[in-house]
Amino acid sequence: ADLGELDARVSVCRACPRLVRWREDVAHGKRASYADQPYWGRPVPGFGPPTASILVVGLAPAANGANRTGRLFTGDRSGDWLFASLHRVGLATQGTSVHSADGLELVDTRMVATVRCAPPQNKPTTSERDTCSPWIEAELGLLAEHVRVVVALGGYGWDATLRVYAALGWQVARPKPRFGHGVEATLVHDARSVTLLGCYHPSQQNTFTGRLTEPMLDEVFGRAAELGGA
Ligand code: SF4
Repeated sequence: ADLGELDARVSVCRACPRLVRWREDVAHGKRASYADQPYWGRPVPGFGPPTASILVVGLAPAANGANRTGRLFTGDRSGDWLFASLHRVGLATQGTSVHSADGLELVDTRMVATVRCAPPQNKPTTSERDTCSPWIEAELGLLAEHVRVVVALGGYGWDATLRVYAALGWQVARPKPRFGHGVEATLVHDARSVTLLGCYHPSQQNTFTGRLTEPMLDEVFGRAAELGGA
């Protein structure tokens, strides 16, 4: 299997009844904030080149962001912060990401969501998380050869990354490294190693309150670019 095939397969997954209902309710205008626009309304695959050395792991698509545009972090406030920072450090060709045909490309970077369908209140259940995990495991299995650094957005992204790498047979330090902004941990498999980098999620909760600032975001992505060799 290649990544294109995996993207195509995940985009028609219907394994979680609650999330299928929610993503489609939002898309069919029952809860749409952008009622005049077509909605993707399906699982959102990863975004970025298959040979990326930097992987960004987020939680799940936003109901009126990626669930609308079909591209991760595209068309929402978190994405505004994220793509602007990626552009400033040279990992994106544009600093804004409004819709999926805007020509934006990521440089040596791929983004993936832990849970691929938009959940109500941005909160998937544990069983939904577990149901979706084979998708991210399969994707990481295909990307692992190239990935040298993983930026985990928020504690959820951090824990998910550790879980997925452990499932793929990588060794993680014990006790489990704790999430924090700018924290680094090393994951090892045979002769290979990956650096896991913690980053506060660029959600409005964090950016409005000043818990996460633009320089803080640039510091983490600048470090990722340095480690990834982009
Ligand atoms: Fe399928 Fe994942 Fe969406 Fe559940 S969250 S329906 S497993 S793609």
